[in-house]
Amino acid sequence: MDGLMMDFPLTLSMVMRRAELLFPEKEIVTRQPDRSFHRYTYSEWIRRSKKLALALKKLGVKDGDRIGSFCWNHYQHYELYFGIPAMGAVLHTLNLRLGAEDLSYIINHADDQILFIDESLLPLFEKFREKVSFKKVIVISQKGNIPEGMLDYEELLAAEDDKDFEYTDWDENKAISMCYTSGTTGKPKGTVYSHRSTVLHAMVCAMSSGLGLNQNDILLPVVPMFHANAWGIPFAAPLVGCGLVFPGPFLDPPSLLEAFEQEKVTITGGVPTIWIGMLKVLDENPTAYNLSKMRTLLVGGSAVPKSLIDDFESRHNLNIVHAWGMTEMSPLGTINSLKPRLINSDRPTQLNYRATQGLPVNLVEFRIRGDEGLLEFDGQSMGELEVRGPYIASAYYNSPEGADKFTEDGWFKTGDIATIDPDCYLEIKDRTKDLVKSGGEWISSVELENALMGHEAVAEAAVFAVAHEKWQERPLAAVVLQEGKSAGKDELIAHLAKEFPKWWLPDDVVFIEEIPKTSVGKFKKIVLRETFQNHLINPHS
Ligand code: ADP
Repeated sequence: MDGLMMDFPLTLSMVMRRAELLFPEKEIVTRQPDRSFHRYTYSEWIRRSKKLALALKKLGVKDGDRIGSFCWNHYQHYELYFGIPAMGAVLHTLNLRLGAEDLSYIINHADDQILFIDESLLPLFEKFREKVSFKKVIVISQKGNIPEGMLDYEELLAAEDDKDFEYTDWDENKAISMCYTSGTTGKPKGTVYSHRSTVLHAMVCAMSSGLGLNQNDILLPVVPMFHANAWGIPFAAPLVGCGLVFPGPFLDPPSLLEAFEQEKVTITGGVPTIWIGMLKVLDENPTAYNLSKMRTLLVGGSAVPKSLIDDFESRHNLNIVHAWGMTEMSPLGTINSLKPRLINSDRPTQLNYRATQGLPVNLVEFRIRGDEGLLEFDGQSMGELEVRGPYIASAYYNSPEGADKFTEDGWFKTGDIATIDPDCYLEIKDRTKDLVKSGGEWISSVELENALMGHEAVAEAAVFAVAHEKWQERPLAAVVLQEGKSAGKDELIAHLAKEFPKWWLPDDVVFIEEIPKTSVGKFKKIVLRETFQNHLINPHS
């Protein structure tokens, strides 16, 4: 017997209609290239998104065409997020920190037809312009300086009347946007999101077991809109009617802190490197900013050291919430929260739990697999994490070689090595590619890094595998010291020895100026591995 409910599609049309009806006065604020703040309302945002949809039609864009965006976080980018799918095309957010090779590869692979680009990013475009071809390049400019042969975003919108726009009730499985993995491991691969997956993800993001959003929240995504949908924040906000603040190109701690204070931001999110930098500024100016409205710093993208959670809370009364996700998962996979039985536990216990990646969010199922099959959720057994759910990729875009990331029974293989405890707290121990396998046994580089970053003299630390004659691989630590502080190898190894078995301890510590980072601010261990590959075999090489 079938249920007798409407088979009603979950689409962005619904989200837009709701936002314009219920929250027309809500504000969207953007820090512009000249550092001034641009302000407008949801109602204006929807009107302009509709005009964009009409303009694209006039330009000959067809249903399903891919449209690239090469932009910082700002209100025009937000219009692209909704205006492009509103006329049936697919927004392809391009990571502006990638090199010319990766960018041209991604653009050609996705077959992008039109490019929207910030004026300030035109010099970057020159670096790959010869390798790609767009029918039109549309420039988003504050001053209206448009190079010859390109179109002015504002002029395009000005020529349209939003009253000509009609909502389409799309098939909920239709594509709305795509994003390529940033290639921390291997060639970038494309994830394609649908109306349905995006609406479901936005709802989960808004729930109390997600970010617990409500109309009083003001969100500032530090995470770029070109990185995994800015973690879903741009879609969750209009479901609930949250205020939005976009930082534009200004991601340095003082600019962000100023925006947090001025706009009374309640929730923000970004990768750990952002908060490591911010902590330093806050420590130096502990009373300079009033952040009393801030209730959550959502931090993920790579593991958050326990010391960072502790320092933010104990020194600045700011609450870091650890989350884990992937581009292929829209991206939220887990968010940390303390189960009721832990609320009254002592601080060290709480911190231990809060440093884990947390509990699976709604609609995500997970399991771990070892060499011999599925593993227990006992907090000890380490294996590759597999996930499934309605906003998790079922395939990569035009990528036969990506097929081996999916199991025969329909789960996605994350490439992350994890444990899950009996309460379902997930702990990511490593990426399969970053694991250190010493004499056949796994050592978690993430745990060692976190412990090193807990030492008061250490600013950043990365642990990675290098070749070893006897054990095949051994861990080596690369450490960046805090300015003005000192610590030697023996002291750092002794610090680790308090917590880890002897065979886990790095064979050596190298002190460097900076850890190389990927385009989205993660440690680029591949570079460290290459630089130091013979360090233990021939330490003087
Ligand atoms: P890529 O790093 O390949 O560009 P993503 O940005 O989608 O792709 O990153 C997903 C990966 O980032 C995860 O598979 C995981 O390895 C890592 N990651 C994300 N969040 C966390 C976290 N909180 N702790 C540890 N690793 C994380």
